[in-house]
Amino acid sequence: MASLLCPSSIAKPGADLFGVVDDTGHVEYLEQPVTVDETFVDAARQGRAPEERFRFASNCIKKGCMQWDANSAGCGLVGKIVEVMNQKAEQALPACPIRQRCRWYHQQGALACANCDEVVRNIRMEEHASV
Ligand code: SF4
Repeated sequence: MASLLCPSSIAKPGADLFGVVDDTGHVEYLEQPVTVDETFVDAARQGRAPEERFRFASNCIKKGCMQWDANSAGCGLVGKIVEVMNQKAEQALPACPIRQRCRWYHQQGALACANCDEVVRNIRMEEHASV
């Protein structure tokens, strides 16, 4: 199986753009992720931090990431987000194009998706983004 994807990646060449933050701060998920290149990243960095305007995914690097929790052998960030944001899981999941490979969904299921939309609005991505 292909490796799981971190849904809070920084903007970098090769990352998959999968969501755009709308005027209300909510994420509009793309139908298909788009792999971005250096030109896109350079252009996106001209304005507000691209991580505040878009959502990117890239391969979960497990132990190479400061968010990796060796005890649970999983991402430690998603559990914190679910706990702090405390949004209840909805029956209808947002139509997210990376769900099959999403690390957070793999670990927390619908709860991860219910709280995922809060990431951009409430959490500084620089502090939590994987490398
Ligand atoms: S947690 Fe759910 S909504 Fe967020 S990126 Fe993963 S699959 Fe998509």
